[in-house]
Amino acid sequence: MRFGPSSAARDHDEKVTRKVAEIIYDDGADLGLVQRRHVAVLGYGSQGHAHALSLRDSGVDVRVGLPEGSGSIEKAEGEGLRVLTPREACEESDLIMVLVPDHLQRALYADAIGPALVEGDALFFAHGLSIRYGLIQPPSGVDVCMVAPKGPGHLVRRQFSEGRGVPVLVAVHADASGNAWPLALSYAKAIGGTRAGALKTTFTEETETDLFGEQAVLCGGVSELIKAGFDTLVEAGYQPEVAYFECMHELKLIVDLIYRGGLSYMRYSISDTAEQGDYTAGPRIITSKTREEMKKILAEIRDGSFAKEWIEENDKGCPNFLATRQREQTHPIEQLGPKLRAMMPFLQPVVAPGLATKAATSEK
Ligand code: NDP
Ligand code: MG
Repeated sequence: MRFGPSSAARDHDEKVTRKVAEIIYDDGADLGLVQRRHVAVLGYGSQGHAHALSLRDSGVDVRVGLPEGSGSIEKAEGEGLRVLTPREACEESDLIMVLVPDHLQRALYADAIGPALVEGDALFFAHGLSIRYGLIQPPSGVDVCMVAPKGPGHLVRRQFSEGRGVPVLVAVHADASGNAWPLALSYAKAIGGTRAGALKTTFTEETETDLFGEQAVLCGGVSELIKAGFDTLVEAGYQPEVAYFECMHELKLIVDLIYRGGLSYMRYSISDTAEQGDYTAGPRIITSKTREEMKKILAEIRDGSFAKEWIEENDKGCPNFLATRQREQTHPIEQLGPKLRAMMPFLQPVVAPGLATKAATSEK
């Protein structure tokens, strides 16, 4: 198994020198290409259900691959989809979309996908991790493409059903047929992606920026910021309930403004006092040291050391990961939050599934 920069590093070099983003819309994609294929969608979770249903509604021959005993078989069949085992689904298809969790893809490839691949087939992903780090190495003769929606599957499906779409990233790792790009764009069109725009990228760029974003900003950065703010107020003697509202609850209001109109619109909407505090305190929280650390995190993503550690952790059954998850759930803000949220039904509060569950597929 390789963890260093894979052959995908080549397309990265090509990409970083190109500054202008290329975005393709409906008129730049031919739906007929994917309509002439037999498609297997492996997995029926957040992304799987959205892709399978929208492909079907776009006139594509689609079947779903799920292991025996999967709770999703009934759901997919209930929607009128054909469900086979992953191996059977791959055998009868010439385009396979892999929509199982990333850490399970390597094993699924060995069991079901790899043995069924023949020259002329196309292998599709919605995230580049398995290819970028060489965990899956498809044979030559197979097109390897990515169509990665920039949103959760339920939004992808809802937008499609309403005649709109969620933007997608598209990439080609291997163009064996010489036709991989048009095929990837055709698939993107079939799930509504080109209605909002298909942005050309590479497996390397998508994987590295995705990992960096979730580690430094979206998940790692935000979680630590919330906890640090809450802890500071509580340690100073303020009521935890007040600290909760300040440091966690109100984050949504701020993010909603940023989402719709960027930082400028958020700053326009808040008070001048809040805006002044934004400018004076922000750079004291995200210091040059924090930015240095971000660069280190990015370097560990690019040299493969994060992926190597994570795969090794999975191979051991995730002992550290699960212990950390358990410890994190005991943080005072996580103990307090459910009680406060239960009194605010307008939030549609949910309780995170138990410690043994690795992914909340139904709530994404
Ligand atoms: P989910 O966890 O929501 O769903 C995974 C699905 O795979 C479930 O239906 C599960 O079955 C099924 N599954 C598990 N093991 C197997 C197996 N061996 N064979 C066949 N099916 C199996 O995953 P996501 O939809 O979140 O992620 C899928 C891919 O999409 C990943 O590569 C992810 O990075 C990417 N992606 C995800 C986004 C998101 O917002 N969620 C956004 C963009 C990309 P069961 O139903 O029985 O649990
Ligand atoms: Mg992401």
